[in-house]
Amino acid sequence: MFDITTRDIKYLPGVGPHRATILNKELGIFSLHDLLYYFPYKYVDRSRLYYVHEIDGAMPYIQLKGQILGFETFGEGRQRRLVAHFSDGTGVVDLVWFQGIKYITAKYKVWEEYIVFGKPTPYGGRMNIAHPDIDNASELTLSTMGLQPYYNTTEKMKRSFLNSNALLKLVEAAFMQIQSPLTETLSPKILSENHLMPLMDALRNIHFPPNPELLRKAQTRLKFEELFYLQLNILRYSKERQRKYRGYVFERVGKTFNDFYTKNLPFELTGAQKRVMKEIRNDVGCGKQMNRLLQGDVGSGKTLVALMSMLIAIDNDYQACLMAPTEILANQHCETIKELLFGLNIHVELLTGSVKGKKREKLLSELLTGDIDILIGTHAVIEDTVNFSKLGLVVIDEQHRFGVAQRAKLWTKSICPPHVLVMTATPIPRTLAMTLYGDLDVSVIDELPPGRKPIITIHQFDNRRESLYSSIGKQISEGRQIYMVYPLIKESEKIDLKNLEEGYLHVCDVFPQYKVSKLHGKMKSVEKDAEMQRFITGETQIMVATTVIEVGVNVPNASVMVIENAERFGLYQLHQLRGRVGRGADQSYCILVTNYKLTEETRKRLEIMVRTNDGFEIAEADLKLRGPGDLEGTQQSGIAFDLKIADLARDGQLLQYVRNIVQEIVDSDPEGSSPDNDILWKQLKILRKTNVNWASIS
Ligand code: ADP
Ligand code: MG
Repeated sequence: MFDITTRDIKYLPGVGPHRATILNKELGIFSLHDLLYYFPYKYVDRSRLYYVHEIDGAMPYIQLKGQILGFETFGEGRQRRLVAHFSDGTGVVDLVWFQGIKYITAKYKVWEEYIVFGKPTPYGGRMNIAHPDIDNASELTLSTMGLQPYYNTTEKMKRSFLNSNALLKLVEAAFMQIQSPLTETLSPKILSENHLMPLMDALRNIHFPPNPELLRKAQTRLKFEELFYLQLNILRYSKERQRKYRGYVFERVGKTFNDFYTKNLPFELTGAQKRVMKEIRNDVGCGKQMNRLLQGDVGSGKTLVALMSMLIAIDNDYQACLMAPTEILANQHCETIKELLFGLNIHVELLTGSVKGKKREKLLSELLTGDIDILIGTHAVIEDTVNFSKLGLVVIDEQHRFGVAQRAKLWTKSICPPHVLVMTATPIPRTLAMTLYGDLDVSVIDELPPGRKPIITIHQFDNRRESLYSSIGKQISEGRQIYMVYPLIKESEKIDLKNLEEGYLHVCDVFPQYKVSKLHGKMKSVEKDAEMQRFITGETQIMVATTVIEVGVNVPNASVMVIENAERFGLYQLHQLRGRVGRGADQSYCILVTNYKLTEETRKRLEIMVRTNDGFEIAEADLKLRGPGDLEGTQQSGIAFDLKIADLARDGQLLQYVRNIVQEIVDSDPEGSSPDNDILWKQLKILRKTNVNWASIS
């Protein structure tokens, strides 16, 4: 049977094995179905003609009808260009080609009537259109052209002549091959209640929209569908899981917790910490498995909440595990926690990639016998060789670095899935949270410990170093410590390290009286730890580093964060870095150093940083500026970013609307037995089969 979901793209007329391989590799298009779901990224109105005298450089693509008055060539060799003077009687524009000059002069004739299509730009006192599309006026009927779709293509594709136009032709061919309409993916009830276009109409209209109104309807239908199944997948399976698995019941708060609370707790909990502890205690005591996301800005005191939750697990004879994204952070957690637990006879161990040989063996066996109460570590703790006696609670710190699949792996570590507390330092925008962690309950610490002064953020151009150094010097002379952070991006690792090295030498030069630490990802972890330790103990006053210090590092005496080349960091990272200071009682500063030339987007980023310390506001702004696909830390999670048409930054309202509908369906038909919804469960099954990320959610 002819099935478009399996029908190999290579059999489509105009494709063949070579182009099929390119479509596979470049766009992930394997079947006719994939092709139909490869949507245009923009449309240009080709139903309207402009006059030469009305066009200006601000216009996007426009269309003119007229004649070529004559050709001229300029320049030599690689500089050579062909210019055709084109007029419609109201003025003259220059059509320009830098390639294919022979072909163009042979193909187009002077005084023929053509329709020219392209982007006008002013150059040399005249409007220019570079490499325009040209059609014979007699062959083109404008009224049927409507909106012309544009498809994203890659350089590799273009080399095999698979440009946007070629893709459009393939889509046309695909529609010709489909004999019967595709199976509808939403139920008649949902379609009619929400005034949605049927699937087949939507697909046709998204590729060949006759007018903007139908295009909008097609887009809405396809976005709706995409968000609908995303939510259905999350909500349905979290519901099912809740029914299937019981959670461990931590019924008592016992000696360990109470001893800690009365003897060791160094300060009063904030109101927010108390509230969150209550929420967690409810969760772990009620018989359901806890899946909770704890959001709290940097410095809000999440570690303490994590620790107290782990103590409850221990009080109920379970083990607990705390997972951090980096070795430095795991180390720091381990030290902080050991210190906090001093004298309480709780066995805490650290497991990272550097724990090897005999030491590791001993640790693993103690874990298995239940000797170890709290295991703290990096990814190393989810390796297959690590087995617990009775793992009751897992805390994941800075969880955005852990993908959904990794979270799922934890479940295999005990018979019954442990309670999971996921902590994140940078608040996630609501729409993203709903999609990425839609199965998690959310707690928020929205209150900083008392006595903190808001960090003052300043943007400074790098030609004003002297004033920068004098403010740094002043801070150090008052006993404070300083971070100076350099970007590190993989592709240019060498250059970045050189920058860091130069920065380090320069700082040593400017401040000969102080000691300077240096930290980067290329160092061995023992070296890193030793260097970090020197800074923590105050032996060094300045820490020159790459972003390895980004997450979680806690040195309350550090009061200035200088971020070099701040233009190269995302908002999210800037906010994380800034959170390294402002942890003590002193006024702290974050100084964003950039060079003079900044893009509009960078300028906006810096403005936001200077204006606010509010992580939620920053997260929302980041999502708007860059879209979800680019947000640091979220890429690995995979799911939300396979989105083909919906946009989490722009379609927040639709997402909320769709989520409510899905919630209603899941609540009213928990067994999935209503015939009304048959179509939905079927489609969800198909999606979970074809999308690995989706399947890993449950
Ligand atoms: P984060 O939420 O960024 O992980 P931490 O848990 O590292 O924050 O806490 C930041 C600092 O605030 C630590 O030095 C911690 O000891 C301190 N702290 C946490 N809770 C309180 C509190 N209730 N009162 C005072 N200081 C606190
Ligand atoms: Mg932390």
